[in-house]
Amino acid sequence: MQNMVILGATGSIGASTLSVISVNPSAYCVYGLVANTSVDKMLALCVAHRPKVAHMMDEAAAKQLRAALPSALNIKVTTGMNDLLGLVTAAEVDTVMAAIVGAVGLVPTLEAVKAGKRILLANKEALVMSGELFIEATKRSGAVLLPVDSEHNAIFQCLPQEVQANLGRCDLTASGISHILLTGSGGPFLHSDLATLGAMTPAQACKHPNWSMGPKISVDSATMMNKGLEFIEARWLFNTGTEQLKVVIHPQSVIHSMVQYRDGSVIAQMGNPDMRTPIAHCMAYPQRIHSGVEPLDFFKVGQLSFCEPDFNRFPCLALAMEACAQGQEATTVLNAANEIAVEAFLQGQIGFTQIAKVNEACLVTVPKRPMASIEDILALDAQTRVYARETLTSIT
Ligand code: NAD
Ligand code: MG
Repeated sequence: MQNMVILGATGSIGASTLSVISVNPSAYCVYGLVANTSVDKMLALCVAHRPKVAHMMDEAAAKQLRAALPSALNIKVTTGMNDLLGLVTAAEVDTVMAAIVGAVGLVPTLEAVKAGKRILLANKEALVMSGELFIEATKRSGAVLLPVDSEHNAIFQCLPQEVQANLGRCDLTASGISHILLTGSGGPFLHSDLATLGAMTPAQACKHPNWSMGPKISVDSATMMNKGLEFIEARWLFNTGTEQLKVVIHPQSVIHSMVQYRDGSVIAQMGNPDMRTPIAHCMAYPQRIHSGVEPLDFFKVGQLSFCEPDFNRFPCLALAMEACAQGQEATTVLNAANEIAVEAFLQGQIGFTQIAKVNEACLVTVPKRPMASIEDILALDAQTRVYARETLTSIT
């Protein structure tokens, strides 16, 4: 029986994780659920899954939850960062699903890493921000790191065992690997007239053709910043040079990524676009469990197609690849800028095509300095947010 804590329990990945647990109730126990402010959703999850601890980051939300929970359920409600860090490091906890959205997920995820937990990593922003420090902390504590992001999970499944066992430190070339082929659907605007992009609304941007996801990652998929963040995520997880990583547009989202070997072999992982598959893979690795996902029907799929990304259409992807080549400081700046820009877009403050402009302005302007600690990273993140907020009003 694995005791699990789910960071971001009320979100899209949280729901999929709880769904996989429900299919396998004798193997997994919901020890803790963590969310920010969604009291009603958390209340429903508590009633359905009976965790030992329910944590609301927001204090007022914790108070409301405490008042609403039937005392017979005997669920402890906690709040604030200290209690959260206590929860993810508790001796009873085996596995932490890191699925808070954005940079705020970094500190609790890293604390779970340091405590040597089994980490199921969905929160890509945490790795994009802290890359090397995150990987080093994993190695020091012996934490098992498993990638939930469907592309990275696919790549992981296509890699030889010696690489799987040595994430972040592996030598792909020594294992005969020439390239990692990171696939992406191209999102809802792959074929839209370029002249119409500026007027695209948050509702249009969030209408992904294949995946159902939270609002931030949905917008990131429309700009393809998501693929950019994943490019950086892959760089750290698989210890690759940027020349070993290629982005391939594959609109059907059936192949979730591929690994190309020296001898000409390409190994792909396929499945329906449903996050319960990579989540179940991470939960059970190296075993396999039921996820509740329908088997892939090739006759329904019919065709698979591929094309190269158009950087003119997707400037955020180009910025992320550029930041990845520049290094850790640049990726921290880009991630923070993008979080502010996406939030502003979702709130109707800026247009869709201005997201890339805010990101570029920050990447060019925010002074980068070497980062030796998590405090340095958080300071650069905070500084970038201030600059990005100022930029929102001046960008055209
Ligand atoms: P979502 O918006 O649906 O859910 C976000 C969750 O984070 C919510 O439970 C929310 O309460 C919690 N949260 C937000 N701020 C918080 C805070 N300050 N403290 C504690 N909790 C907080 O997002 P999602 O789509 O589930 O994505 C979660 C993460 O997983 C993201 O980093 C995303 O990039 C990654 N991811 C998601 C998918 C997907 O299919 N949804 C796929 C791959 C990776
Ligand atoms: Mg992904």
